[in-house]
Amino acid sequence: LQTKLPKVGTTIFAVMSQLASEHGAVNLGQGFPDFAPPSRLLDAVERALRSGHNQYAPMTGIPALRQAIAAKTERVYGHRPDADAEITVTSGATEAIFDAVHAVVRAGDEVVVLDPAYDCYDPAIELAGGRAVHVPLDPRTFAPDWERVRQAIGPRTRMLMINSPHNPSGAMLTAADMATLAALLRDTDIVLLSDEVYEHIVFDGARHESVLRYPELRERAYVVSSFGKTYHCTGWKIGYCVAPPALSAEFRKVHQYNVFCTFNPAQHAFAEMIEAEPEHYEQLGAFYEEKRDRFREQLLQTRLEPLPVPGGYFQLVDYSAVSDLDDNAFCRWLTIEHGVCAIPLSPFYDAPPPGQRLARLCFAKNPETLDAAISRLQKL
Ligand code: PMP
Ligand code: GLN
Repeated sequence: LQTKLPKVGTTIFAVMSQLASEHGAVNLGQGFPDFAPPSRLLDAVERALRSGHNQYAPMTGIPALRQAIAAKTERVYGHRPDADAEITVTSGATEAIFDAVHAVVRAGDEVVVLDPAYDCYDPAIELAGGRAVHVPLDPRTFAPDWERVRQAIGPRTRMLMINSPHNPSGAMLTAADMATLAALLRDTDIVLLSDEVYEHIVFDGARHESVLRYPELRERAYVVSSFGKTYHCTGWKIGYCVAPPALSAEFRKVHQYNVFCTFNPAQHAFAEMIEAEPEHYEQLGAFYEEKRDRFREQLLQTRLEPLPVPGGYFQLVDYSAVSDLDDNAFCRWLTIEHGVCAIPLSPFYDAPPPGQRLARLCFAKNPETLDAAISRLQKL
């Protein structure tokens, strides 16, 4: 069989979760909370299941949910997208990213990706017949070098992908970045794909610079969100995409033949939850900031060096004081020999920086889980 994706193996998240369970390791690898979604949300799903919402939802998502998303977007970002023409509910951010790429990327097109990047971007581009052009972020701060981005743009560039707060580093784009980006894309027909799944997990009083705040950027953008991150339910796989009517129309051509629609009962539940408890997403930053601070404090008792975490729910650690193994070998060793599962950074890169000794730990966990991990990490 001639493979269509020669560079792709099994995703690192599946590999490391499997290894963690084989070895009984505390799993701080794959990013998911080990606590329950809000009880109103659970009750609402149960009610939806029992009240007959068990057949296909409308292809674009149920109207009540799209309206709730529109109102929430206006409340948070000061812009109200049209619920009918500009919002599509998807099976997670992963489906939205795949659809957006397939909606616009043609054979031979180029897509600029900032490395390290979430691992589903490249395969989507390749399957669409496109080519990812990788531009490295700063190896320590993970800030973009817009001059290098400019140099990577050429006549075949069809799309540019950004992700803030950033997985794996937690780095966030600033208002100045957004202004530079707008200037960079002005007078081009490049489509922007903005992965904002950690939009509500921001710390230290910072503001998430959503593309939806910026008229010039949102006119050319697919903006992708995930309820999995915001509502502690990564296993439900529900997200959405906001884009102007023409871009949404193309997006929906792919979505309708990819999945057609997504899980109906949860759509009813999110419609209720978004409107009834805005404090859930408003307080999410503070909720995770406490976890971040406690975890970082504890890491000071280990020989792992924590890097700054402006947003998201991942802590990068420099392990060079502990080991000279490369990051893949180190994370396997840490899982098997020390019972703590972490994610290496190399799989997020086309070309990992030589000698980089960084691993990613997820702190979206109960204190007991993090305590158990720390007591093992202290022995390193
Ligand atoms: N983008 C980023 C940056 C992510 O971290 C994730 C999941 N962790 C996704 C997209 C996919 O989100 P979903 O689970 O909603 O498909
Ligand atoms: N996005 C999650 C992470 O970065 C993993 C999601 C997945 O396993 N596909 O850990």
